[in-house]
Amino acid sequence: MRRTVVCFIRITAANLVGQKLLTNSCPPPISRVDLKDYSPDELVAFLSGLGKERFRAGQLLRWIYARGVTNFAEMTDLSRELREDLAARAFVSDWSAEVVETSTDGTRKYLFRLDDGQTVETVRIPMEAGRTTLCVSTQVGCAMGCAFCLTGSFGLVRNLRPSEIVNQVCAARKDGPVQNIVMMGMGEPLHNLDNVVKALEILYSTEGFDFGTRKITLSTSGLVPEMLELGRRVRVNLAVSLNATTDAVRDELMPINRRYPLKELMAACRAYPLPPRGRITFEYILIRGVNDSLEDAKRLVKLLHGIKAKVNLIPFNEHEGSVYRIPERSAIEAFQVYLLNRDIVAVRRSSKGQDISAACGQLKGRLEREQKLLPELSPTPAKR
Ligand code: SF4
Repeated sequence: MRRTVVCFIRITAANLVGQKLLTNSCPPPISRVDLKDYSPDELVAFLSGLGKERFRAGQLLRWIYARGVTNFAEMTDLSRELREDLAARAFVSDWSAEVVETSTDGTRKYLFRLDDGQTVETVRIPMEAGRTTLCVSTQVGCAMGCAFCLTGSFGLVRNLRPSEIVNQVCAARKDGPVQNIVMMGMGEPLHNLDNVVKALEILYSTEGFDFGTRKITLSTSGLVPEMLELGRRVRVNLAVSLNATTDAVRDELMPINRRYPLKELMAACRAYPLPPRGRITFEYILIRGVNDSLEDAKRLVKLLHGIKAKVNLIPFNEHEGSVYRIPERSAIEAFQVYLLNRDIVAVRRSSKGQDISAACGQLKGRLEREQKLLPELSPTPAKR
C-alpha cells in the first residue's frame, strides 16, 4: 500500500536519508517508503540516514511486528522528533483480507487485494495440538506452469515485495498465533529470491516476529542455481516439489524439469546445507495413473539414496479445469508402505479445506472469473 504525500516544506528526494537541501524551486512530491519493505539491516541504514542510533531499529521492529502497531504516533518510546521524521518519510502498511473462507475443519483461506488491484491468497491451517501453520504466497501468479496447478495457469503477473509477503503473516496473526510458516502458496519463492530472503530476515528478527529458522519452510519446484544461492544466503528448511521419478513424467508435470532435470536437481539437494538432524522434505503429489505406481515408488527410493529426506505424499486435489484425478486409496497405501519398508519417512498429507476453495489459486480464480477478469476454465488436455 505505497502512498504518496505532497510535501509543503523545502525537501527533495535527497533528504529521504536525512539530508536537508534548500531550494527555491517547487519541491517534487515525496514517495514515502513502507518500513515493512526493509530488512532489519536496511532499517538500521535508513535510520542511520536520519542520524538515529542502531537500537532505534529494534524499537521499530518491536512496535511493528511484535505489537502490530502501524501508527508512529502510538510508538511512545520514540522521541516526538523521530516520530514526526518517520511520518514525513515513511509509513507502515497494514492489511485486512477482502475475502475470508472458513472450512468446517478450521482451515481459513484469505484473499488480499494489493495496491495495484492484484490479489493473492494465504491459508491458515490448523495442525495437531492446537498449532497453526500459515501458507503464504510469494508472487502474483507463477511462471513455472506446473500442469497440476491452478496458479500456474494464471502465468506470472509480478513478484511480491517483502512487505507484501510479511503482511500476510501480520494479517493472519490478528486471528490468532501462528507457529509455522510454509512458503508454498502462489508463486515460486526462488523466482523472487531477493524479496523472499528479505522477508525471511524480517520473520527471523528477534525483536520482531522472532520465528526460529526451523519454523519456516520454503518450497521450490527445483530452480537449481537459486537453491544453491538460497543455501549461501539464509538458513531455511527446504521442501522440493518432486512429483515424478522420471524426467519424461516430470517434464510433463513441471516444465522447469526441462531446464534442470532430475539428476541436477538431486545433486543440488545433496549440496544444500542442512542443520544437524535436518532433512529436505520432498513433496510428492500422487496423481492417478501418472506417478502413483509401485515402479514409481521404487525409483523414488533410488533417487533419494544418500539424501536426508522426508516424503510428503499428497493425493491430488481435484479441481475444476484439471483432468488429473486422485489415486485409488489402495495405490496411496501401497506407495506409502513401500517407502516406509525402506526406512524412508513417508507421511500422508490430507488436503484440508475441501469444503472451501482448497486448491492453491482456486479462490482467486473463482472470484476473478466472477468479476470477468479471467476466462472460464476448460479442462487442460492430458498429454498422457
Ligand atoms: S506448483 Fe508452485 S511452482 Fe508450480 S505453477 Fe503452482 S505455484 Fe508455481
